[in-house]
Amino acid sequence: MKGTPSFGKMNKKTHMRCRRCGRNSFNISGRYCAACGYGRSRRIRRYRWANKKVNGKRVR
Ligand SMILES: [Zn+2]
Repeated sequence: MKGTPSFGKMNKKTHMRCRRCGRNSFNISGRYCAACGYGRSRRIRRYRWANKKVNGKRVR
């Protein structure tokens, strides 16, 4: 199902707010942040093809 009927399945919490980057990308079960890599590595997750803002600052 696509669209509105399937939105009822979105009640599962897979991510919570990341302590480091503040995004809602911290995976609860995996305990790592999908956006900045917090919990997985001490470095901030970043790639050349994805220079996005971490904590409001541009990271590249
Ligand atoms: Zn993060």
